[in-house]
Order: sequence, then structure tokens, then C-alpha cells
Amino acid sequence: MSAPYDLNDDSVVVIIGSGAGGGTLGTQLALKGIDTVILEAGSRHETWDFINDEWDSFAQLAWKDKRRTSGDWRVSTDFPNLPAWIVKSVGGSTVHWAGASLRFQEHEFKTKTHYGEVKDANLLDWPIDLKEMEPWYAMAEDRMGVTRTNGIPGLPGNNNFKVMEAGAKKIGYKEVHTGRMAINSVPRDDRSSCLQIGFCFQGCKSGAKWSTLVAEIPKGEATGKLEVRPDSMVLRIEHDASGKVTGVVYADKDGKQHLQKARVVAVAGNSIESPRLLLNSHSSKFPDGLANSSGQVGRNYMRHTTGSVYGIFEKPVHMYRGTTMAGIIRDESRHDPARGFVGGYEFETLSLGLPFMAAFLDPGKWGGDFADAMDNYRNMAGMWIVGEDMPRADNRITLAEETDEHGMPIPDVHFDDHENDNAMRDHAYRQGSAIYEAVGAVRTIHTPPYPSTHNLGTNRMSEKAEDGVVNRYGQTHDIPNLFVSDGSQFTSGAAENPTLTIVALALRQADHIAGRMAKGEL
Ligand SMILES: Cc1cc2nc3c(=O)[nH]c(=O)nc-3n(C[C@H](O)[C@H](O)[C@H](O)COP(=O)(O)OP(=O)(O)OC[C@H]3O[C@@H](n4cnc5c(N)ncnc54)[C@H](O)[C@@H]3O)c2cc1C
Ligand code: SF4
Repeated sequence: MSAPYDLNDDSVVVIIGSGAGGGTLGTQLALKGIDTVILEAGSRHETWDFINDEWDSFAQLAWKDKRRTSGDWRVSTDFPNLPAWIVKSVGGSTVHWAGASLRFQEHEFKTKTHYGEVKDANLLDWPIDLKEMEPWYAMAEDRMGVTRTNGIPGLPGNNNFKVMEAGAKKIGYKEVHTGRMAINSVPRDDRSSCLQIGFCFQGCKSGAKWSTLVAEIPKGEATGKLEVRPDSMVLRIEHDASGKVTGVVYADKDGKQHLQKARVVAVAGNSIESPRLLLNSHSSKFPDGLANSSGQVGRNYMRHTTGSVYGIFEKPVHMYRGTTMAGIIRDESRHDPARGFVGGYEFETLSLGLPFMAAFLDPGKWGGDFADAMDNYRNMAGMWIVGEDMPRADNRITLAEETDEHGMPIPDVHFDDHENDNAMRDHAYRQGSAIYEAVGAVRTIHTPPYPSTHNLGTNRMSEKAEDGVVNRYGQTHDIPNLFVSDGSQFTSGAAENPTLTIVALALRQADHIAGRMAKGEL
């Protein structure tokens, strides 16, 4: 058989979502000769369609379906219907992403062991560790062409990096460089090197940035074993009397519903849609939703402890020129409770264009301070804080009463900051200001977290079925032929940007699924 596949073909693996997890898994299965269909809610936009304009690009690519928020996080006040800034398009959020690709540290796989009991946190050790993940990380780094691995040189530093580097070194930080980035610093994998255009979040028109859209899916499709069906929004997963999943119901772009049969189903819709789909797939056999015997589906939503620090200088910096996130300080990523919190954080260079800056610098603010900052945009340098936040049972995705155009309940995203998150953010704000002040900043600005770009943890991985949703391979504890393949598997969030780990887990999962299929176990 080869793509396109028939709706009644029940021998195919069906993957829901084509982003970091789903796009990688689908490609890897196809490369192993397995018939695979990816159903993707968004349309297909290619590199030449991308728009180097922030709001127009957002309108083209972002997930804008209605969502609700609750909880004490600022996002709930500032952007009540936009809890997350992620993508609805073939390639998923790897189309928007910046490319920072870091391995987790050993202790971050075992937070309960290393951090102990943290009040009001739902810490749990992952059932896997760094040693087990190392070969998969190595494979992912090679696939993605991560700089500073496999002999690939680092990217050049732009002005934004040079300002951050000078300040960081002045206050004593040691591990400062242009990062491990899945962006070509030299031509590789039939894609050009970075042209320093500076629109990395808008898709990257040169193709230098790795995404499943440009670097994975075309290889899967070339095998004839992968069909990517865009404009296909999955509404529910179906199962038989024994409880095994048998296929999925999806709506096409005209709203017409179809049933695609499947041998195996893998959910990879990112950490809000994946639990929403499992919850929306409830039935008389599974009244609380699929794979939810533990009651953990939707819980432990994490988004990283984020925030930004901007410095205003007397002379121009032009932070928006060049690769957006090629710059990192790693010294604070260690676990060192003497700082007043568990876990650690990174600083990474960040710049927003003028249109986004006006919306996100201090949401809802106007007046002298805000106008002064915007007046000084040219003279600004910026960096982002990304740190480990605490998993909490009540930070969760639930179904709201309101429904979407297909009649399916929309998700409510509830998040309260943990006091550890606040202590970490305050520490990072102070250190960030110190970095810029050390090199002459006339003013520094602390910006609250944007809508979440890192969405994690709502179908957590656990050793025991009662503690989580999936096992060490992302296979649901309850249903053997139902898998979770995206960032919702994360047991805890770590200080590092998540995508390298999502890709490494997807490569490992493909190996597992192919092996089990070959033995007739799936
Ligand atoms: C601006 C920005 C910058 C970022 N920078 C970095 C970075 O530098 N480093 C890093 O590690 N991470 C970064 N990230 C995060 C990274 O993009 C995500 O962690 C990663 O893409 C998540 O992978 P995923 O597979 O969980 O989901 P996604 O990549 O979001 O893919 C999910 C896909 O599923 C589809 N989908 C959802 N529901 C359904 C449904 N019901 N039916 C069919 N399809 C569905 C969606 O349309 C989407 O295409 C960034 C994100 C953004 C937005
Ligand atoms: S700076 Fe490099 S990675 Fe970013 S959009 Fe331009 S070419 Fe792509």
C-alpha cells in the first residue's frame, strides 16, 4: 500500500498533529516502511508562503480557535482567550519556534528524588533517565542539525547577543555562547545556512531553521508511506467493545465529518488539544475520557517559568537583526536551593518586532513609561527567562460548557503560579537587570510572561498506571494501541526548551511501535 490511504484501511497508524512530536513520529515510521496517516487540523503553508510581518504571520499560522483561561496567572487577565501562542498548520509549532535545542540534565528526570517534597507541587520522577535518552538525543541532534553538536559550528552572535554576553561576563557568568540551535550555521541537509533575516518566529523563509514541515515530512512523504492530510480536525477517537482504539472521527475544511480507521492511534496535538481530545472521546466504557483511569488526563499543565528583561541603552542595539534566539546564559540552570527555589533557569536572547512589542511589553499599559520604551526601541536589548515550573494537579485543562463550530466543548486552561515559580522569576528579573546595568543600561524593564509557547505535561509519563497517563514509551497505561507523542508526555518540565526532548522521545517511540508491530503485538 502507499499514500493516499483509504478511510477504511485499518492497517494504518494514525497520528493526530504534525508538529515536533507527530511530524517526527510519522516520518520515522514511514522511513521504517510503516503505512502512516497524519491528520493535521491546520492548512499546509510552505516556506515561500511565509510572511515577514508579525501580525499577518500570526493570522496565517497561529492556533486561534476559541479557548478559555482561569487562574491567577497574568495571561488570564491580559489574553483571556489566548492561553498559548502555538501553531495550527502543517509542521505545528516548529514553524514558529526559535530553534533552541538543549538536552535535559540528569536531575531534571528525577525531580522528586532531588527536590524532595515541595508543598503544593505534584512532583514525580520520570520512568526514564538521561543515560537512556542519550542515544536518542544524539540522533535528534543529528537529524535537526543542532549547532555545537556533530562538529556543526555555532551561529554568529548578533548585537543583541553581544550586549548580553558582555554584561553576563562582567557579572561573572561563564557559560555564555550563541546556543545549541537547530538552525543551519552552514548548509546542511539540502537546506541553506541562516541568512540572519530575523523572522525566525514567522516561519523562516530561507529554510535554514529545522521544522517538521521542511526537514522531516518531505522525507517521510518521499517513501510513499506517509500521507499528511491537512485541514483535518480530529474530534474524537473511537474504540471497540474490548476498549482498543479503532479509528478517529475528523472534520474536513467544509466541516464534513469522516471516520479514518486505524491500527494504532498516536495523539500529538500539543498539551492543550491532546488532553481535550482524550476527554472529548468519553464513552459509556470510558466515561471520564480515554486513558484516564488515573484521573490525570489534563492535569499537571506546565508552561515554564518565563518572563523577559529588556535593557535600554544610550546607543542603538537593533536587537531585531539576526537570529532571534542565538544567545544563551546557562549558569543559572543548575539546581541550587540556596537561591530560594528548586530547579533552575536559562537566559536566552529574545527580540520582538515593533508591532509585537507594543502588544506584549506591558500588556494594557499606556502613558509616559510605555511611550518612552517604545521611543527607545532601537536602543533596546532583550532576553527571555525560561525555567522549570512546578507541576500541580490543579493546573489543568478541563472541558468548558461552550462548544466550537463542530459542537465539541472547548478547553479551559487553568494555571496558578507556584511560589517556587514566583521566587525563580524574581531572581531572574534581578539577575537580568544586573546583566544590562553592568554594561550601561539606562533603564531595564521586566515583562510578564507571554501566552505560553512551551505547553507541557497534561498526559504525564509515569512508572505506575495510577500516577499518570502514559508509560516510558508514551503508550497509554489503559489502552495498548493508543499513544501520546507530544510534549504532554512530560512528567516535569526541566529548565530547557522542550522540543529536542519531544523529538528524541518521538524517535524512540517510533522504534518501539515498529518493534511491537513486527512482533504482532500491536
Ligand atoms: C514563538 C515560539 C518559539 C518557540 N521557540 C522554541 C525554542 O527555541 N526551542 C524549543 O525547544 N521550543 C520552542 N518553542 C516550542 C515548540 O514549538 C513546541 O514545544 C513544540 O513544537 C511542541 O511540539 P508538539 O508536538 O507538542 O506540538 P506542536 O508542534 O504544536 O504540534 C501540534 C499540532 O497538532 C495539530 N492539532 C492539534 N489538535 C488537533 C486535532 N484535534 N486534530 C488535528 N490536528 C491537531 C496542531 O494544529 C499542530 O500542528 C517555541 C514555540 C513558539 C510558539
Ligand atoms: S535569522 Fe536565520 S533562522 Fe531566522 S528567519 Fe532568518 S534565516 Fe531563518
